[in-house]
Amino acid sequence: MAETTFMGVPRDQIPWFPTIDYDKCTFCMECDTFCPHHVFERREGDRPLAIANPANCVVFCRACAKTCGPDALSFPGKPETIARIKQIREGASSK
Ligand code: SF4
Ligand code: SF4
Repeated sequence: MAETTFMGVPRDQIPWFPTIDYDKCTFCMECDTFCPHHVFERREGDRPLAIANPANCVVFCRACAKTCGPDALSFPGKPETIARIKQIREGASSK
């Protein structure tokens, strides 16, 4: 698959994706059913849902969090992520 970029930075270097709080998650699968980007993956075992493809998450999307009744999904801060993207971009251009 071709490498995707966001704001001039390879997508897989941008730390934007949901984190599941397993103390709150009830494994209702609403988030996975909602998201069309295959970020989540259903698995066997004690934790039947995982973030399998973080780089598939749309940068600055938080839509699945609204589907989560127990508020088990969290994201990084947007300003911090923008700062990080700029830092990566400046690092890359100074090489
Ligand atoms: S934030 Fe958006 S793209 Fe990312 S996992 Fe949730 S619904 Fe999918
Ligand atoms: S919507 Fe929330 S509670 Fe349901 S599976 Fe996703 S993270 Fe877990």
